[in-house]
Parts: sequence; C-alpha cells; structure tokens
Amino acid sequence: MPLSGRDYMKQRAIGFQQLRARVIRTYFVPGMAFLLAFIVASVMDAPAWLQFSISGVGFVLLCIGDYKYKCPVCKRTPAEGDGPDFNPKSCGRCGAILLWREDSGAKDNQPV
Ligand SMILES: [Zn+2]
Repeated sequence: MPLSGRDYMKQRAIGFQQLRARVIRTYFVPGMAFLLAFIVASVMDAPAWLQFSISGVGFVLLCIGDYKYKCPVCKRTPAEGDGPDFNPKSCGRCGAILLWREDSGAKDNQPV
C-alpha cells in the first residue's frame, strides 16, 4: 500500500528529527565545546598556534553541521528570524512540517 500524503509528511518529519539529533550530537555539541575551549585558551594566554587550531576545529565542525542541517523539502537551514532554528516545528522558509504531532497535517485521520 502506498504511503498517503499524511504518512509521507510524518516520515519526513521523523527523518528530520533523526537528522537533527545526529547533527547536534556529532557536530554542534563538539563545535561549541571547541569554541568554549578557545575562549578558555585565550583567557589563559595559550600559544597562538593552539588557539588557532582549537578555533579552527570548532569552526569547521559548526560549518559541517550547518551544511548537513537542512530542511528535507527546500534544502535550506531552518531559520527563525535571522538565526538558525534548532528546534523547529515547521520550516520557517517553506512551511514543511518538521516536528510531527498527531494533529499535524491533513485531516484524513478522521473516522470514516
Ligand atoms: Zn523548508
């Protein structure tokens, strides 16, 4: 049986939530940790090469995370206002549902 439009949206939203969890865990959390380490290193007056490497690694991790963190429909980073939205219910750019709730989507779940 082919997926209905509603099931398709649900699968897409669930897939996005898995992607979001993976990207945050793999790239954003370590990236932020490296940026924090960079601040600590500069406060502690660490050697310039060390500060440069730490900030470089953090920056690259955040860039990869931002590159991978995309709306499955419009392929752009979900955004709210000017900044990226890391807990979107729907895409701020194209309106695709990104966090599924049973009352989301079309009303074809009504009893017949
Ligand atoms: Zn979108």
